[in-house]
Amino acid sequence: EAASQPAETPKTPPKRRVRLTHPDRIYWPDAGVTKEGLADYYAEVWPRIAPFIVGRPLALVRCPEGIEGQHFFQKHPWKGADKALKEVHDPKAPDEPPYLAVETLDGLMALVQGAALEIHPFGAPLSDWERPDLLTMDLDPGEGVPWSAVIAAAHEVKARLETAGLAAFVKTSGGKGLHVCAPLKPRADWTELKAFTKAMAETMAQEAPDTYVATITKAKRRGRILVDYLRNQRGSTAVAPYSARARAGAPVSMPIAWEELGEGMGPQHFTVLNAPARLANLSADPWADFRKAAAPLPAGRTAGGTAG
Ligand code: ATP
Ligand code: MN
Ligand code: MN
Repeated sequence: EAASQPAETPKTPPKRRVRLTHPDRIYWPDAGVTKEGLADYYAEVWPRIAPFIVGRPLALVRCPEGIEGQHFFQKHPWKGADKALKEVHDPKAPDEPPYLAVETLDGLMALVQGAALEIHPFGAPLSDWERPDLLTMDLDPGEGVPWSAVIAAAHEVKARLETAGLAAFVKTSGGKGLHVCAPLKPRADWTELKAFTKAMAETMAQEAPDTYVATITKAKRRGRILVDYLRNQRGSTAVAPYSARARAGAPVSMPIAWEELGEGMGPQHFTVLNAPARLANLSADPWADFRKAAAPLPAGRTAGGTAG
């Protein structure tokens, strides 16, 4: 297992060793969140976010001037990055520029120092780039889709995953939609994972064409939910649980329990500002069993669950 599981939640956030320049720089003007505020947030959620970001290639959304400045989607090291940020080479493309990885809280703080507001891990660990251990179904509502329909879509994906023998967990995206994630035992390769998720998305679109689409085509999305399976291909990423989003209000992608999904909890309900209180008050982490629940992708089956 590549992801290290830190022990228990420390009472006070651990001390930073990575120096933050311009700690008072405002990253989210509307929410009043500074660079130091982001560092404090990530230090606090470190024990929870670590299993999802440690030991895998990371893509980042960097906003050196905050969310109102330029956004850089970045997969490769930049000049002046702290050495707590590790450089890793894709074994399949050793001559290409290295990717970024973190191992420790210092690594995460180095991301903050580098103005990385969003953290998007690959779906496979560094220990085996070819065998994904995470399936992500990204539900993207088009214009005019009611939130209740997005919730129904998440439940439908859950049911289909469970039919296939997989466990399903849900999180807010911090953007417009929901992400349904399944922990995988790393057996199948990317080709198989993509085929499986594509089949699921296409089956949903065929059975309910007024509700779902499986292709990116913008024109077809109005009033429908894009079942975006393309997070599940080699080199693709999805935003990590607990990652902040470089969007107004400082939202975060928050793991929630299925029972919590409802009209009162939209995709941007949780933020850098209110997440710590939620986490402190939770009686149980809704994603506590995420890794334990891992199952292998069924071989030679379609997502419809019909073939044997
Ligand atoms: P929403 O709920 O608004 O759809 P999201 O996290 O699902 O939020 P986006 O932020 O639009 O969706 O990102 C979609 C995916 O594309 C992310 O998983 C991200 O890893 C990837 N991505 C984001 N920006 C870029 C970019 N500039 N270039 C390549 N890939 C990107
Ligand atoms: Mn999405
Ligand atoms: Mn998408």
